[in-house]
Amino acid sequence: SSIVAAEPRVPFQLTSRWIEVLVDCPGVQGIYTYKLPAELDVQPGDILSVPFGTSQVGAIAIRLSQPPADLAQDKIKEVIDIVSAGFFPSGYWQLLNRIAEYYYTPLMQVIRVALPPGLLGRSQRRIRLIAKADAATQFLTPAARQILELLQAQNQGDYSFTHIQRQVKGAYRGVRELLRSHLVESYLEPPRLSKPKRQKAVTLVGTGLESDITSRQREILEVLRRRGGDMWLSELLQICSTSSATLKTLEQKGYIVIQEREVLRIAFDVIAQDQPKALTSAQSQALETITQLDGYAQVLLHGVTGSGKTEVYLQAIAPLLNQGKSALVLVPEIGLTPQLTDRFRARFGNKVCVYHSALSDGERYDTWRQMLTGEPQVVIGTRSAVFAPLPHLGLIILDEEHDSSFKQDQPIPTYHARTVATWRAELENCPLVLGSATPSLETWVEVKSENTLNTHYLSLPERIQSRPLPPVEIVDMRQELQQGNRSIFSRSLQGALQQLQEREQQGILFIHRRGHSTFVSCRSCGYVIECPHCDVSLAYHQTEEKAPEILRCHYCNYAQSHPRHCPECSSPYLKFFGSGTQRVAQELTRQFPQLRVIRFDSDTTRTKGSHRTLLTRFANREADLLVGTQMLTKGLDLPQVTLVGVVAADGLLHLADYRAAERAFQTLTQVAGRAGRGEDPGRVILQTYSPEHPVIQAVQQHVYEAFTEAELQQRAALNYPPYGRLILLRLSSTDPATVESTAQQIAAQLNTISNCEILGPAPASVLRVSNRYRWQILLKLASEIQPELPDWEAMRSLIPPSVSLTIDVDPLNF
Ligand code: ADP
Ligand code: ZN
Ligand code: ZN
Repeated sequence: SSIVAAEPRVPFQLTSRWIEVLVDCPGVQGIYTYKLPAELDVQPGDILSVPFGTSQVGAIAIRLSQPPADLAQDKIKEVIDIVSAGFFPSGYWQLLNRIAEYYYTPLMQVIRVALPPGLLGRSQRRIRLIAKADAATQFLTPAARQILELLQAQNQGDYSFTHIQRQVKGAYRGVRELLRSHLVESYLEPPRLSKPKRQKAVTLVGTGLESDITSRQREILEVLRRRGGDMWLSELLQICSTSSATLKTLEQKGYIVIQEREVLRIAFDVIAQDQPKALTSAQSQALETITQLDGYAQVLLHGVTGSGKTEVYLQAIAPLLNQGKSALVLVPEIGLTPQLTDRFRARFGNKVCVYHSALSDGERYDTWRQMLTGEPQVVIGTRSAVFAPLPHLGLIILDEEHDSSFKQDQPIPTYHARTVATWRAELENCPLVLGSATPSLETWVEVKSENTLNTHYLSLPERIQSRPLPPVEIVDMRQELQQGNRSIFSRSLQGALQQLQEREQQGILFIHRRGHSTFVSCRSCGYVIECPHCDVSLAYHQTEEKAPEILRCHYCNYAQSHPRHCPECSSPYLKFFGSGTQRVAQELTRQFPQLRVIRFDSDTTRTKGSHRTLLTRFANREADLLVGTQMLTKGLDLPQVTLVGVVAADGLLHLADYRAAERAFQTLTQVAGRAGRGEDPGRVILQTYSPEHPVIQAVQQHVYEAFTEAELQQRAALNYPPYGRLILLRLSSTDPATVESTAQQIAAQLNTISNCEILGPAPASVLRVSNRYRWQILLKLASEIQPELPDWEAMRSLIPPSVSLTIDVDPLNF
């Protein structure tokens, strides 16, 4: 009963007779080894049933293996049977194993990230009568007697324990009593996949003369036709206010088919259809190269903002779907997916599914099942969608490939979706397209270097319809101050804001916010309100004008209400500092009361669907200005936006991190790229206290390549990525002394490795988070000769149990 049409199975080359399986049922989770009966042809990914304790549970076959050393071989139990075969695409388990190896993570943790929760059905415990109980019942407690009665009334004395629990008080003890007196036995139902929801659907099949039916019935067919010829029965009944009998008649006459089908909890919005656009010559060149690729290749599509990359993706995917293949489109953040998803839906309709971690468990599980059907489809998702189990993958696209949200910092595995996508494309033998206006240095070096095979560099150097990139005006905020302007808005920005409404245009204000930028302090005694669990100040939040004021910790999420008086000196003069979005929004209201402002940040987009709502409101011109953080920079295509203001670029420039310049350049270029995408020309005003900074200069002149080459020279000189590799060891403990001394010991051990530079140990930038003290050690590995790294698992067993160690391979944030 496999869901996927069976792929030809690789001949069974079994030399070992053991297999590792993943068991994931309530109460039992882990990887276990079983013996394989000779007659079973098991492949990785098959769903098996295995004995566990005294019952049977469902399990996923992971890989053939050796028997574990600590178990006598004859103690190992045998696999009972295959429940469902051919479930995962071939190569899928190889991919998971590769991730486990590269990121030094137990396979179990990789599987946790990859598979949606609840893929294996919960095995229900059932209770069954095994003896006539008449004589013994008088000695039983009332609960046990009540259970016996229930069982006798059920299907051959067999009932689920959950149902017993619902009806009998003290069910647990009652059942135990019955088990002890050998009146009942308890067993787990044979495992199966979670039960999908099913519902009747109507499909249009006949296109006859329709002379044999009534005009009323013809109307029903017309409704069905307008909805694409396929609807849920209940929906059709409701819309046409008709009866099941009428539909039955239509079925008998051969116009429609009524069938029960799985209901997937996947929400669709109806989107206006859209046709492929006539491509520019740069676009068609790019498209041609991509569609002619046969098998694995890595393509960088380097297109300035608004150059039509998305249109190239759409047209590259269309022919694949016709060939019965699927495509995977990875995007950085969910904030930009509503708009992008709409563009894909307009082209491909309900062949598009969305997969990301903000979906509910049910939606994730159903989308997963939809992907497993093997029907040609397009999956759009964030980083974890790189694990989408599409059986016939024809293309992987990573849009905004430079974005650091493709990297997972925690929990383990600390994978980068771009790295995993490369491996996946290799295993599936399909092309990988990386799109960006500001490619990461890793990708740039990879694609530009002469000794890599299968790489292609494609460029879209101009905006669509030769629209110019917006001019970037740099405002020196030091001069503003000298000339007496104390506002957070320069005179130039003030002027531009003033003009917005007059010209009926829209603008975006970008604020780079860091954890410390909105702390609350006492104007009388200087006291700063800090998190009780972390070494940081609390940040001030207010989601709406009249919503309660909250202080929140950005590290551990601790929250408290805003005190009225200083906790230290009781002074009522508490004030919040910094320029978060909220402060800017308030300042705007004060200076430009006529401007209609929408805040777009983590406060106002907390609830599900709020990204879409806010962006739709803005697109419908319900506001003149969108004020927000990083989220605004990513791929928004709002043609009516002419003004982009950066309130203060400096927070981005001065981060203590070797990537600070690269990241600042990318962010500022992306923000600037939101302006002038439509017919009206755009304008960018960039406020800063360091106008001479090379990043600011590069952003102003729109020079990616010169900036990148200079930056690469510095990286090479210091052996930083993309030349050398980094591994970060993060250590933490509730005891500051233990973690420090452990860090010292580990660093001393690592110091003996050649071709590996040890930086640290050093306390993390915020030492204490959630009452844990954090230290870190950075390993910089030589680019040419791979050093011999220690066995991390062995090292882990040597450190004190109170210290936790996580290994971040290719870290981005530290
Ligand atoms: P990018 O992804 O490179 O930022 P988009 O794909 O969003 O660029 O394209 C920018 C705008 O130009 C979009 O509104 C898109 O619909 C439009 N566009 C793209 N390609 C074409 C084309 N060949 N002809 C006309 N309009 C186009
Ligand atoms: Zn005070
Ligand atoms: Zn905290």
